[in-house]
This record gives sequence, C-alpha cells and structure tokens, in this order.
Amino acid sequence: MKELTRLTAVELGEKIEAGEISSVEATKAYLDRIGQTDKDVHAYITVDTEGALARAEEVDRKIRAGELTGPLAGVPVAVKDNMCITGTLTTCASHILDNFKPVYTATAVQKLLDSGMVILGRTNMDEFAMGSTTETSYFGPTRNPWDLSRVPGGSSGGSAAAVAAESCAAALGSDTGGSIRQPAGFCGITGIKPTYGRVSRYGLIAYGSSLDQIGPMGKDVRDCAALLSVIAGHDEKDSTSADRMDTDFITGLSDGVKGMKIGVPADYLIEGLDPEVKRAVLEAADSFRAMGAEVEEFDLGMVEYAIPAYYVIACAEASSNLERFDGVKYGFRAKDFEGLHDMYKKTRSEGFGTEVKRRIMLGSFVLSSGYYDAYYVKALRVKALIKQAFDKAFEKYDVILGPVAPTTALPVGESLSDPIKMYLGDIYTVSVNLAGLPGISLPCGYDGKGLPIGLQLLGQTFEEKKILRAAHAFEDCFRDKLRRAPMVQEGGAR
Ligand code: GLN
Repeated sequence: MKELTRLTAVELGEKIEAGEISSVEATKAYLDRIGQTDKDVHAYITVDTEGALARAEEVDRKIRAGELTGPLAGVPVAVKDNMCITGTLTTCASHILDNFKPVYTATAVQKLLDSGMVILGRTNMDEFAMGSTTETSYFGPTRNPWDLSRVPGGSSGGSAAAVAAESCAAALGSDTGGSIRQPAGFCGITGIKPTYGRVSRYGLIAYGSSLDQIGPMGKDVRDCAALLSVIAGHDEKDSTSADRMDTDFITGLSDGVKGMKIGVPADYLIEGLDPEVKRAVLEAADSFRAMGAEVEEFDLGMVEYAIPAYYVIACAEASSNLERFDGVKYGFRAKDFEGLHDMYKKTRSEGFGTEVKRRIMLGSFVLSSGYYDAYYVKALRVKALIKQAFDKAFEKYDVILGPVAPTTALPVGESLSDPIKMYLGDIYTVSVNLAGLPGISLPCGYDGKGLPIGLQLLGQTFEEKKILRAAHAFEDCFRDKLRRAPMVQEGGAR
C-alpha cells in the first residue's frame, strides 16, 4: 500500500470506508508528517494534536456504528485561520486576533465536520488574507515545499504548502482576488475558487465581502470536486449564498472535453508574462486540442483595468469590515491608554500590521466624500464592464484558459519591499472575483528551476462542473509529467 500521507483524500476516504485504515491511523500519520516538515515549512499556525486524535476516535466509532457514511469520513484536513471554529483559536494571522476564540463555527467548516472529516489544525495566511505571499502573517512566513527559500504564494499559502508537503490530505482556503488559485499554482497543487454564493461565507472573517469565497485545495481535481460537493449549498445564515441544488461535482467528472470550446485570451499572453509560464500554458492549450476541444485565442478586453478596480473595491470593503476590530469586542487590546479614543487608536496601531494598515487607509480614502465618485464608484463601473466582457466571452466559449500568475514562486522577501509589484502579480486572478466567476488552478508544467507552473481554467457563473471536467481531463494527460515537491520525495525536510 502507498504510504498513507501519499494517498489522495478520496483514496484515503475509500480505504477508511472499507475498514483497511482507521481515521486514527490516518490522523497519526499526518500529525507525524507535520512534525517532520512544519518546522521548515511553517504551514500551520495551530496544530490541534489532542483534538484531532479525539475526534478521529469518535469518527471511527461512528463509522463502525454506520452513523457516518460519507466518502470523506475520517479524512484529516486543515483549515485556513480565517474561518471561525467554536472555542478554537482563529487569528487571521493577525496580532489583533491572536487570542480570539469564536463562539460559533463557519458553515463550510461545520459541513466538513458533519461529513466526518478531522481537522488537524489552522493554516497560516497573509494577515486578514491581504497579500499574495503569506509573508504578512504576524506569525512569520510560510515556505514553499518546492524550495524553502521561496514563498508559497498567498494568501492561503499555509493551506497550499500543507497540501504540497503532504501534511494534510486536503485543506480549505479563501479567495478574494486569487488567494486559493495563486498559492495552488505556486505549490503545484489544485485549488478551486467557486462561484460567488456557491459556498456560504458565514463564519469566514470578511476581507472584501463582495469578493470573498471559500474553496477547496487538494492533491488533485477529484479531491477538490469531492470537497466542493461537501461544502457547497445554500445557507440561511448567509444572504448572499445561492439557493441551488446542483451540488454534486463528482458525477460527469470524467466525461472529457470533446467538442468543448476553449478560449485563450490573447491579452493575457503579453509583456510581463514569464516566457516559461507562457510556453507551459500554450502547451496545455495544445493538449486540449489533442483531446478534441476547439481552442482559439481571442481578445477578452478590460484586462489592464482589473487590478486598479480590484484594489479600490477590496480596500474599500476591507476598511469597513475591519472597523469592528477596536479592542472592545474581540481579541487584543492595547495596555496603556487614556480614554476610549486613545484605546481604539493604540489597539489598532499595535494590533494591525503594515499591509493591513496600508489597505485600511487606501480604502478609507477612496470612500471619503469628494473621492467616492472619482475612485469607488468608478471602480464599480469597471467591475460591471469586466463582468460584461466575460459574459460576452462565455457566449462563445465553455471555458477560458490562461495562466494563474505571471511568474512562478518568488524568493522570500522580494515582494515585501515592493507592494505594487506584488499587486501586479494578481493580474490573472482578480477579475474572476470581480465578475463572481468560478476558477480552478492546477499544475501544467515546471520552469527551469523545477518550480511548478499553474494553469487557470475559468467558467461562467455556477459552471464549476465544466471547469472541473476540463481540469480532470487535462490532469489525466499531464499525469506522467506530474512531480512532487522535493521535500516529499526525500521523505522529510531538506
Ligand atoms: N493578493 C490579493 C490581495 O492581496 C488577493 C488576496 C485574496 O484573495 N485574499 O488582495
């Protein structure tokens, strides 16, 4: 039998269901793996050894009693540290929440628990999910398991690195402007950002409420589809969650891409795109052709406006969402202050990191009277035009294919010194959130340094099944070239 931590979540679930492995055994194997790798990778903020083992025992009992029958029952997973879990430290990788234990559980996480999954711990992230490198975490950066001197991407870098280092079977991330897809690309794993409204945001600590979406990150497409089937669905507690019944993402996964129409935006393949990434993406397009899809280039339009519009809207919403962290209701409170206003000021000054403060200031500025129309309202108009551009493209194409990011994983430290450069790295991901579309990221090649290259497939709203089907077909033909993170091949940290 393959080493336990090497199995996909679905394979592991099958073995647990068949009684070949217990959830306790699987959980112990992953906890050991965390022990081996996490001092170097630092994918986790909190590892809940006792809780996970106790839960695995309970799950094993319920499986034996026939009370838990789901395909992923007993599978150990990790959860990004911005989703509330009752009584469990939930920090958003921020000093301001470093003692925060919520009194309720996010719906997506509750669904994992209801289907019998075991939560190993909470993964590292950029503070309040603001960033693309997982370097803005109050708890220090996560490292990329492919090369420990590089970033894992962000903001769900902890979840991506944990999956790539095989220190969890799968994980949940959140994506406001690329935070599932880009780290998945940098770490050579698969991640899907569902359509806005597909997964409940209840209990997800908000960054940009009109953009945020929780989604699965896994070892392959089937794992992501299985996990999405668990977490998707309407939730009365989130008024923006969609009331839809089509939440089975497994059926039809292997139906192939024959006759599928795939568009490749020529305006994605321009200056700034690393030539090695471009080559891998175009080779992926050729693979789709070879599998019987019709593939052509076209002009999507509006590409250059996505980043400015996104940063105006995301920061505006963040500045409003983060008002609640004032030292009164949650988390950290500064020690020495004189009066209420001084307490607010000191708590927020000491509690938030530089990137979060930068965004609160930018967001407050674009919402201030006098600038509101010039920036915020204009950005909303651009958002509507971006959605129109996608709608037009999806009249003709089933799927849009392109890169996830302009480069592969960058060295640690490079982006911190140049935030604008970091923002520009989001060019292929943010428009998807502005338009509320689903997007999947999966490995499609390796650069000269051996780092993974991500491929992104986009679909029209609520057409996750189509992009999963296309991704699954590609994964099948890429399987021979698929590699593992070097630290995994060597069975531990280098
Ligand atoms: N990199 C983007 C940002 O910094 C996206 C982050 C995210 O999706 N949470 O806002």
